[in-house]
Amino acid sequence: MNHQSSTLKTSNLICHHCEGKGYSVIRDCTGEIQREETCLFCCGTGKKQDDEPED
Ligand SMILES: [Zn+2]
Repeated sequence: MNHQSSTLKTSNLICHHCEGKGYSVIRDCTGEIQREETCLFCCGTGKKQDDEPED
């Protein structure tokens, strides 16, 4: 009996901290972009590094 393989997980999940850009934009209180910093959550890859459980 063949089970349909639904266990394949997408490993290229986009890092939602930086929305896949690999960096986060630092803004001041007026909304003006100050600088861009490498996203610490994905180390600049824009992809999720850890296999976090979804909740
Ligand atoms: Zn990121």
